[in-house]
Order: sequence, then C-alpha cells, then structure tokens
Amino acid sequence: MDILDLSRVEADAPIFDPDAFRLTAKEAELTALARRLGKGLFAGRAAEVDRDARFPTENYRDMHTAGLLGICVPEADGGRGADFRAYMLTAAEIGRYCGATALTWNMHVCSCLWTGPLSEDLEMPDEVRAVHRARRAIHYRRILDDGAIYAQPFSEGGAAAAGVVPFSTSAKRVDGGWRINGKKIFASLSGHADYYGVLCGELKEGERPSRRDTMYIAVPATAEGVKVVGDWDPLGMRGTVSRTLLLEDVFVPDDAQLMPRGVYYQAATRWPHMFMTLSPTYMGIAQAAYDFTVAYLRGEVPGLPPVKRRMYPTKQLGVAQMRLMLEQTKALWFQAVTEACADPSKDQVLRAYMAQYTVMENANEICQLAIRTCGGQSMLKSLPLERLYRDSRCGSLMLPWTAEICLDRVGREALYEAGEVDE
Ligand SMILES: Cc1cc2nc3c(=O)[nH]c(=O)nc-3n(C[C@H](O)[C@H](O)[C@H](O)COP(=O)(O)OP(=O)(O)OC[C@H]3O[C@@H](n4cnc5c(N)ncnc54)[C@H](O)[C@@H]3O)c2cc1C
Repeated sequence: MDILDLSRVEADAPIFDPDAFRLTAKEAELTALARRLGKGLFAGRAAEVDRDARFPTENYRDMHTAGLLGICVPEADGGRGADFRAYMLTAAEIGRYCGATALTWNMHVCSCLWTGPLSEDLEMPDEVRAVHRARRAIHYRRILDDGAIYAQPFSEGGAAAAGVVPFSTSAKRVDGGWRINGKKIFASLSGHADYYGVLCGELKEGERPSRRDTMYIAVPATAEGVKVVGDWDPLGMRGTVSRTLLLEDVFVPDDAQLMPRGVYYQAATRWPHMFMTLSPTYMGIAQAAYDFTVAYLRGEVPGLPPVKRRMYPTKQLGVAQMRLMLEQTKALWFQAVTEACADPSKDQVLRAYMAQYTVMENANEICQLAIRTCGGQSMLKSLPLERLYRDSRCGSLMLPWTAEICLDRVGREALYEAGEVDE
C-alpha cells in the first residue's frame, strides 16, 4: 500500500478516545494518522523486521512523507509542532503496530523535543537562546527536507545513563568545534541513523568531570572516527539494531551542538518527565496484546479459522483481568503525561516514576496474560503475540528509569523529604 492510500485504511479504535480523554484537535489528528500508518503499513512489516533483526527503514521513509519525523519540530520551523503529550499519545499508537519503530522513533524525536518545546521552558540568556534556535534550525531542516534520522546513544554500561555519575564519553573544546571520544552501548538505529545525538561530558582542563557539564552533540554518521561494532541478536525489540558505537577522535563543528552548555543538566533536573518518552511504545504494546486477545477469542483474527473461544468463563476472566490492568495503566500514564512540565511538584515526579513503572511492568504482564488466556496456538510465530511478549520484556530495562530505579526512588522519596537524614 502506498502512503497516499492511507485514507482507505479502516483505522482501529484509539487507545485514548479524543472525546473521553479531551484530546486537542492536533492530538486527535496526529494519533489518527499514526493509527492509519501503523495498521496500513507498519503492522505488515513488523514480523520480518523482528525475524531478521533489521532496521525498519521503509517505516522511516513513510514517517518522513507523513511529516512525523518532524513531529516535535516547532511549527515556526516547518514542523508539526507537537508538544510532549501530543508526541507521547502518537508514539503509543505507533507502538501498537511495530514496537521497534516506536522505540527508535523515540530516540529520533528526542533530538527535536528536547531542543524544541522542552528547551523553551528552560532558562538561558537571550544571546545563548538566539544561537541555540539558529543551530537547532539546521538540524530541523535536515530532518524535514532530507528525512535525516537522529539516534540517541547515551548508555555506556556504567552508572552514567542512570544519571548517577558523569558520562565517560568526552567532548573537548578545540578550534571551531569539539573533539569527541568514547563508547556507547545499545546505540539503537546504529548503522542507520544519519546523526548520533551523543550525550558526553565536557573535558575541562584541571577540573573533575561533572554531570553539570553534560553536552548533547549531533555526530554525523559519516564523520571520521565513527564506528559501529558488534552484533545484534537480542530477545526482543530486534528491529532497533542497538549495536555498539565507537567515537575515536571525532571532530564536529560548533553547530553540531544540540543544546547549549549546561542546558541538558538543567533539563534533566527541572523537566524530569523527559525520561518518560520510552514508555509510550509499551503502552501501545499493552493495547495490542489486549486487542489481539479479544479478536482471537471472538474468532476474528484475519487468516485464522473463525473458531470462537469467548464462551468459556475462564477466558472471560482472563480478558477481564487484562482489561482492568490496561485501564489502570492508561489512567495513571495519561495523568502523568498530562501534568509534565518544568519544575513539577514532588507528587508529580513520583507519579511519573509510578506511571513509567506501571507501563513497563504491566505491558509485559498483559502480554503474559494474553498468551495464557488465548492458549497454546496463540504463541505460534505466525502470530504477533509472541513478538509483543518478547518486545514487552525490554521496557523495564531501559535507563535512566528502569523499573528498579523507579521503585527505589518512589520508596525513598515517599519516606524522606529533601535534605532529611537519619541520626
Ligand atoms: C532494546 C533496547 C534498546 C536500547 N536503546 C538504547 C538507545 O538507543 N540509547 C541508549 O542510550 N540506551 C539504549 N538502551 C540501553 C538501556 O537504556 C540501558 O542502558 C541498558 O539496558 C542497561 O543495560 P545494563 O546491562 O548495563 O543494565 P543495568 O545493570 O541495569 O544498568 C547499568 C548500570 O547502571 C547503574 N545502575 C543501575 N541501576 C542503578 C541504581 N538503582 N542506582 C544506581 N545506579 C544504577 C549501574 O552502574 C549499572 O551497572 C537500549 C536497551 C534495549 C534493551
């Protein structure tokens, strides 16, 4: 199917009904577009992307044509102008049809969300903001005009991605730009991104590395010294192609800087919901597992004999359990996403951790229940359920807000106010 034929796709019902959840017109439009793209094009490619652990290049071409690569590029710069919530809701819809596409799209979109709407909430002197806006416009044009794809490698295998210590990957100021050295693990989109939005620490002569000096810099995939190494054969999210990225004495010019000095640290401390952007993929997977189960028990899965299983009370109980968990997840997640802002209250931050934990853990639990409820034949590789199950397992491992870290922070911060210590 051609992307131009999308109007013919009979879209699935929305995860968040625009009327019931009072979505804006833009949110309703973007989420409807995502559902059409997902059902009409991405769903049919997802099995092969997963089987071959290959990057869904054609989905990215379609998202470029549909204007979704620039979803968070401000309208003034020619983009769709989506804010945090509009992006999150749209990503959840994509996640229903291809988890790997939704997850990698998150890495790409952060390069626009963080530099765009989120940066506008942060403080910087007027002259710094003017330079920032001019620089980000260069990146936006590449995305909008050429379909450039940005990755977001920050994991290094140590505690830096957990936000505990400075990044080991370093950026040293040199004439006309930066010299970058380091190694990133799990660099999703590796070998397929045009730019790697690398988080690294600025090396300052005679000073100890500090998280305050974190830099966010776009390294062109073609720059000398950029290498992608290692294989990629994981349990789930196989289409993300998250291999290892080596940066060896890579030079980038000044305009490669995605955020001014100090602004990433300010974002991480003042706009914590920025770390929730991995969760919509799994919200979508949870919905997909539920939808599949209902269709399967009603004997309505395309390509399967119309065998109904819905009349058994045990199956009905299983579906009830899944629906309950899905609605609980949706409600908490929607609330946390809606209240994202600069300088949130303590309760809002705790709710964000709990929403992240709930989506990541419940997506996997709902997939597990789906397999148990549907029964043995539902987990054959010819059906999407086993892929959803494997993909869903990855959610709670994602730093900086793994399920364990969320629990750890909720427990501690529920019991201690800022600055409190025990005797
Ligand atoms: C499919 C997939 C795609 C991914 N894509 C990307 C990507 O595009 N970009 C990217 O940057 N990363 C990506 N990741 C990596 C992910 O975000 C994590 O960094 C990774 O899963 C951590 O693996 P680990 O084995 O090092 O885990 P862990 O051992 O959980 O964490 C690594 C380190 O973090 C520290 N740490 C963990 N928990 C705590 C804690 N409670 N308190 C303090 N420190 C702690 C410890 O030092 C630990 O050794 C991806 C992961 C997956 C599975």
